Amino acid sequence: MIKRIETLQDLRALVRQSERIGFVPTMGALHDGHLSLVRAAKEVCDTVIVSIFVNPTQFAPHEDFASYPRTVEKDCALLEAAGVTAVYMPPVSLMYPDGFATSITVDGVSRYLEGEFRPHFFQGVATVVAKLLLHVLPDKAFFGEKDFQQLQVIRRMVDDLNMPVEIVPVPTARDEYGLALSSRNAYLFPDHMIIARSLNKVLDAMIVDMQSGLSPKDVETRARDTLLKNGFDDVDYCTIRPCATLAPVSSYNMHEPHRALVAARIGTTRLIDNKPV
Ligand code: AMP
Repeated sequence: MIKRIETLQDLRALVRQSERIGFVPTMGALHDGHLSLVRAAKEVCDTVIVSIFVNPTQFAPHEDFASYPRTVEKDCALLEAAGVTAVYMPPVSLMYPDGFATSITVDGVSRYLEGEFRPHFFQGVATVVAKLLLHVLPDKAFFGEKDFQQLQVIRRMVDDLNMPVEIVPVPTARDEYGLALSSRNAYLFPDHMIIARSLNKVLDAMIVDMQSGLSPKDVETRARDTLLKNGFDDVDYCTIRPCATLAPVSSYNMHEPHRALVAARIGTTRLIDNKPV
């Protein structure tokens, strides 16, 4: 049985006797995307710790905190089979003790995109990730490029606070149709899957449009029209941004690295994806 840790005391005991700790924070409902982070950690670390914590502060009241899939037994079996050392499942009372009043705000890269549509989100993420990093004190922490803006926010926080941890990005794991694996794909009905699978094709088309000289405005208009035509009910954003700032631009500087990013809804399910340019 995989070691399940729920107290800081037990976690500290494991950390003290470990060398080269790799850490993979998750909200559970694990899929092969999460396991690709675990595999990356196992390659370079002796001890691999995965946390499962569905963080209430990164959900707004109207979002899916209550219905977020929780599959702890299955998750633990997957992590055991993957050779993970321990799963850390801190209780809410440890993460948010009575009177909790401290939060981390990362400005800059958090302002746009998800920051506009989910204003509560990055403060919740930054605070919980900072706490988890302080708990686990890993040498390396692994984050998926699936949540590219989140990765940029975490990198900024770790640099700004001089946290002694290396942030390792891991490419997005996709199904055979290119759909990015996500715990929220479990919400999709079969006929929604066809729509969802078109999302990554639209990212590819945006990149082709950009490289053929279309303006940011035209790239976005074409992508939005295609997404709606494909059956998405609403598009929060579909845009290509410079990786460093994620800020909107009126023309592309082709010498800078860019990222194509999209967030769109099918019914109440909100999907995000992104690709490098
Ligand atoms: P979550 O459980 O959704 O909070 O995700 C935990 C970690 O897994 C985050 O670093 C995500 O970016 C990463 N992740 C989620 N889906 C994928 C995927 N399809 N490919 C790679 N990493 C992923």
